[in-house]
Amino acid sequence: MFDLIDLHTHSHHSDGTVAPRELVALAAVRKVKVLALTDHDSTAGLAEAECAARDAGMHFTRGVEITAGWRGQEIHVVGLDIDPANAQLVTHLAHLVQLRRTRVAAIGERLRRSSQFRDIDPVAGVLASAEVPTRTHVARAIMALGLATTTQDAFDRWLGRGCKGYVPQEWPDMAAAVTAIRAAGGHAVLAHPHRYKVSSAVLDALCQQFRDCGGSALEVSLPATSPNDAARLARLARKHALAGSAGSDFHEPGLPWRPLGRFAKLADGIEPLLARLQAWDTLQGKIRRHV
Ligand code: AMP
Ligand code: MN
Ligand code: MN
Ligand code: MN
Repeated sequence: MFDLIDLHTHSHHSDGTVAPRELVALAAVRKVKVLALTDHDSTAGLAEAECAARDAGMHFTRGVEITAGWRGQEIHVVGLDIDPANAQLVTHLAHLVQLRRTRVAAIGERLRRSSQFRDIDPVAGVLASAEVPTRTHVARAIMALGLATTTQDAFDRWLGRGCKGYVPQEWPDMAAAVTAIRAAGGHAVLAHPHRYKVSSAVLDALCQQFRDCGGSALEVSLPATSPNDAARLARLARKHALAGSAGSDFHEPGLPWRPLGRFAKLADGIEPLLARLQAWDTLQGKIRRHV
């Protein structure tokens, strides 16, 4: 039996559906011992989650998932043990939120060229209420209008690449994301590397550059990862001397393929990033030595 950790989760401060306090409660039910909240481009939920985790006797890690670009590809960089008050990080995140607002407004304009949206602004509510507006919010608004059945359906019909509401976005470079995380005292983790639609050679180059610009770890243990992908990720981590991180990328209850809490068993030869986190100092001796 292994202890559970989860170093990649979302709340309603980005595109998750639950409040930070509720996220902690759900993690407690799953017997998660170490939890990080890593909202897209936001640290707004950290204080509430940290408080709730303290009450629940759970170790909490302050995190964020920063949207970034690399060779024209969108990638995500998770920052762990960050100081959310750091001015460089705050400025970086504020810029990303501004880019997101502009993009979502442009998505609304494109959608309104279709007859189904002619009399209704599908993004007005999103821009009015979402702190970090994402395409997931737009997808939910489209569902509420009865023009898609699920989030996936909304992406397939309206929001994905090649669809009527697709607006491309250039994000600040990966190196800037890593620099902001490090300025805030955090460790940078390349999120879900196997999900990027690039060749093995390009993924290898990405990992190399990630490490060169100050990255610390790769996410190597995620739900619904095939044995083949898990082996690839472990090979990349070893080759580039990157530590390994584990997280669910939880967004909402009821998605059974992304349950909160991951078995923290890492492949042989991978250094656990957990052992470099502040939570580890208080954990030592209290968690089974499998990580
Ligand atoms: P954005 O950052 O605004 O591009 O929104 C991306 C978010 O939408 C991601 O964080 C995912 O949670 C979600 N997402 C992206 N692609 C899909 C898809 N094909 N189906 C469902 N959700 C998606
Ligand atoms: Mn998301
Ligand atoms: Mn992501
Ligand atoms: Mn995520």
